[in-house]
Amino acid sequence: MPPRPLWWEGARTVADQGSSLAGDTAADVVIVGGGYTGLWTAYYLLREDPSLDVLVLEAEHVGFGASGRNGGWVSALWPVGPETVARVHGPDAARAMVSALQETVVEVGEVARAEGIDCGFEQGGTVVLARSRAQATRARAAAEAGQQWGDGTLWLDAAEARERLAASDVHGGTWNPHCARVHPRRLVDGLAAVVRRRRGRIAEGTRVHSVGPGSVHTAGGHRVTARHVIRATEAWTATLPGRRRAVAPVYSLMVATEPLTPAQWDGIGLAAREVFADHRHVITYGQRTVDDRIAFGGRGAPYHWGSRIRPEFDREQRVFADLRATLRQMLPQLEGVAFTHAWGGPLGIARDWHPSVGLDPETRLGWAGGYVGDGVAASNLAGRTLADLVRGGDTALTRLPWVGHRSRAWEPEPLRWLGVNAGLRLAEAADREEARTGRPGVQARLLTALTGH
Ligand SMILES: Cc1cc2nc3c(=O)[nH]c(=O)nc-3n(C[C@H](O)[C@H](O)[C@H](O)COP(=O)(O)OP(=O)(O)OC[C@H]3O[C@@H](n4cnc5c(N)ncnc54)[C@H](O)[C@@H]3O)c2cc1C
Repeated sequence: MPPRPLWWEGARTVADQGSSLAGDTAADVVIVGGGYTGLWTAYYLLREDPSLDVLVLEAEHVGFGASGRNGGWVSALWPVGPETVARVHGPDAARAMVSALQETVVEVGEVARAEGIDCGFEQGGTVVLARSRAQATRARAAAEAGQQWGDGTLWLDAAEARERLAASDVHGGTWNPHCARVHPRRLVDGLAAVVRRRRGRIAEGTRVHSVGPGSVHTAGGHRVTARHVIRATEAWTATLPGRRRAVAPVYSLMVATEPLTPAQWDGIGLAAREVFADHRHVITYGQRTVDDRIAFGGRGAPYHWGSRIRPEFDREQRVFADLRATLRQMLPQLEGVAFTHAWGGPLGIARDWHPSVGLDPETRLGWAGGYVGDGVAASNLAGRTLADLVRGGDTALTRLPWVGHRSRAWEPEPLRWLGVNAGLRLAEAADREEARTGRPGVQARLLTALTGH
């Protein structure tokens, strides 16, 4: 089984060495990281002001990070609940955040269409099945809470849920219209092509060693000076000097089946290309791919001591086996269907699970990230917001409650390792307890207390 993401089939998997930085240089804006955050920021800056000199520095190749590996849910999901946002910023700010995210899903599709990015964008919504009585209780609660905040989540009875996805043990579910499916790597590569077309510069194979006000230094010994410096390094932020405790790199892993036939799809569903999951505690996510496979992912891989990120951490055989077993159990129609790919990658989690975007007006250092597993759409919102901030605007976007949010640092080791891994294990234990007893138990309550969800 190739250890590379399905999404990288036919795509470039090495840096374009010809593009790497060969000497000192200057730009108006230098952006560190060639994922969605960096490229959306470059895109909106250049769209608003084509005279700007924007330079993106990428250590490996465009889409090397989570942007080239993810589940392809362009969703309005947010790791912090609206009630938490409302507690700090008030209910209007919480509602503004919900609608900004919903609009962002549409924005990604519109830009993809307008710029000719062939990324398979299909807004079929999200179906999340309730596959036990306890899950059904949570699903109903999610639909009720969603009504209060206008998040669009609707309860589905068992027949309605099965009509969307003919899974096993369906007791009901929820559906939310604010989500699209994409081919993640095609989106990030397409964005890079558009940025280059608009005369943005992208230097691949160019690792940044240190990020400071007005300049960055590369591992190759070069210096880039710029009026604005933007950090868009998500999980890798923890590898930059002085930032080890800013985010915890947590791994999400995925598997994919071979392409299914139209007859097999008739028996499964997802006719509108809905993305899917169920209401278990361990995060899972699936999609029907542009070439009619199922790509399915989830958390559960361990956090590594000292916030380390290594290629071998992408491959956790126990988690791959669990993902394949979970999907087969959910969809017994997959008997005899082969799994062809397995991969993973790190995402970034701040101590309070709160994503943030901002630009320090004194140092003109900007950043965005900490999206947990919800960054595909949020990175677009971040890019538009950073473009406004760099251009000095006071806009509806720059007034959203996540702008300028500062999360406290993670604990030093060993507490960080103990805490993050305990949270991950607890989610699995809560699901096991629920499967055994048929009811949410003490582990589920502990998990809610720990993560604030
Ligand atoms: C397996 C998986 C599944 C996911 N599924 C979903 C999903 O379905 N929906 C969703 O919304 N979110 C999902 N996410 C999260 C989402 O993919 C991310 O939030 C999003 O891609 C973050 O984009 P980014 O540009 O901020 O970071 P990244 O895409 O990680 O980009 C950071 C880039 O910075 C580069 N870099 C790092 N350090 C340096 C340095 N020192 N110098 C130069 N360059 C550097 C890296 O090489 C990388 O290319 C998933 C994540 C994973 C890993």
